[in-house]
Amino acid sequence: MLPWLRAERSRLNDVLAAGRLGHAPMILGSAGVGKRAFAEWLAARLLCLQPADGEPCGHCTACRLLPEGTHPDFFRLAPDDGKTEIRVDQVRGFIDSVTLTPSIGDRRAGLIDPADRMNRNAANALLKTLEEPSGDVWLILVTDRPDRLPVTVRSRCQVHRIAVPERAEAEEWLAARHPQRSGDERSLALTLADGAPLEADGWLADGGLEVGLAIRDRLDALVGGGTPDPTVPAEWHESPEATWTWLARWTAGWTRRLQTGSADGLGEAPPAADPEMLDRLDALWRDALAGRRMAGDPVRHDWLMAEWLRGWRALAGRFPVAR
Ligand SMILES: [Zn+2]
Repeated sequence: MLPWLRAERSRLNDVLAAGRLGHAPMILGSAGVGKRAFAEWLAARLLCLQPADGEPCGHCTACRLLPEGTHPDFFRLAPDDGKTEIRVDQVRGFIDSVTLTPSIGDRRAGLIDPADRMNRNAANALLKTLEEPSGDVWLILVTDRPDRLPVTVRSRCQVHRIAVPERAEAEEWLAARHPQRSGDERSLALTLADGAPLEADGWLADGGLEVGLAIRDRLDALVGGGTPDPTVPAEWHESPEATWTWLARWTAGWTRRLQTGSADGLGEAPPAADPEMLDRLDALWRDALAGRRMAGDPVRHDWLMAEWLRGWRALAGRFPVAR
């Protein structure tokens, strides 16, 4: 279990013991802080037949069936494979299942993840169940984009926020998981992930950090004027979400460095807060975020990225590149 979730688990056990756990807990927090792990723990905690010291026992029927995906009183709701939205008929089927009489213990639980992928009709179909929860049914919603959910849904949920952990605790956890990486690499990954340990962990494990740094170097070369041709590498448009996220992240970093003289992963350069440059960077940052929103759509990301890079390349010679 992720060590920094201990405090929130203990808090939730208190809430549960006091009989104050709402029937629709919504687990909020930024990407990579462990919301999913927490929600899975909560489902196990609720369904365990003999929890000990506030933890699922690990060996009752419920605890054995849950990890196998065969627990008859536990249901998941997520977009179908290859789809970006949760549809209304999926929600109806989910509600029908989760509201049946429990077959193992006396509770049922459903996990909606990511809850923000419900389209409007789907969210509306869930409302009635959220308004009139039956006694022993819990619906756990997980999201890092609560703003995408209708306020009618949000207002019926009990929010549990998973915070970004203390830096030292996150670094210690990463060090144990990636002893082959240098402290500088782990620290840079954590910083670029805005402190979200699971995001940093993923980058350190699968080379995502190097992908991000290669994108940074490409952007440097383009504004340095050393690379005349802004072609888009295949690996960029093959992973549009990751690429657009890095483009947005580095653009924000360049903005910060122009304003303050330094930015994580970009090093230092004399501040030069030229309003026109800041406007152009802001436009590029917005375009990168717009690209990311379209990551799952059937659009030509290679074209969009080439256009974006032409905008970036147009900044060549306009500001300091030194690192
Ligand atoms: Zn158990």
